[in-house]
Amino acid sequence: MKTGLLYEGKAKKVYQACGEPGKLVLSYKDDATAMNGEKKATFVGKGRLNNEISSRIFTYLRAKGAETHFIKRLNETEQLVYRTEMIPLEVVVRNMAAGNIAKRLGIEDATAFDPPIVEFYYKNDELGDPFINDEHALFLTNVTPAELQEMKNKALKMNDLLRELFSKVEVILVDFKLEFGRNAEAQIVLSDEISPDTCRLWDKTTQDKLDKDVFRQGTGDLLKVYEDILKRLERII
Ligand code: UDP
Repeated sequence: MKTGLLYEGKAKKVYQACGEPGKLVLSYKDDATAMNGEKKATFVGKGRLNNEISSRIFTYLRAKGAETHFIKRLNETEQLVYRTEMIPLEVVVRNMAAGNIAKRLGIEDATAFDPPIVEFYYKNDELGDPFINDEHALFLTNVTPAELQEMKNKALKMNDLLRELFSKVEVILVDFKLEFGRNAEAQIVLSDEISPDTCRLWDKTTQDKLDKDVFRQGTGDLLKVYEDILKRLERII
């Protein structure tokens, strides 16, 4: 199914799909990193959980009309996707304050944002993925102003869909990160993954953290909370 390794990131490997130049195989790793790679660990089974969770979420978004790179889950740790030209931006949507924003803006954790806040970060490990504004994004990447606006609109639409989804399983979507790419028709489509690695997910009743913060902060069992998210999603999608 797959041939040459094209790229290895912190959480996934990307292979060329065999005999299909326009398609890639994403292979989810068991590695976890935090603080721009300073904190590292391996959790056997994390790759399977994130592949399962992200596959389910992308299938759900596709069914709701969102265009994504996702084709299908291939096996426990791999999925087939369309090749896209990745745009080196992280698009973060925030419904509540958590992580760096509380410190940056001097506000309490869990403060609600209504309307939600959309932010861009420049994907660059050496620079530590700096927070940037729209003009910086236009300067640093080849996106057009219309594409930038389109990414914001799509991110907010996906926020509505994901909030609705997680709410059904008693989970609050606090914030999340998306990445977009251009497909063969030069359209902006959702790429990368959506998983507890890339979202903040809190239990609606207890506010317990069910995401990578348990590893970042050393406060819980990563595999246990990722398994909890998968079990909840399996009930509805
Ligand atoms: N996030 C991510 N990858 C990154 C940085 C952030 O997936 O490289 C996600 C993170 O899991 C959270 C959201 O984006 O759901 C917002 O993260 P934030 O900017 O608050 O990051 P932090 O302050 O924790 O570094």
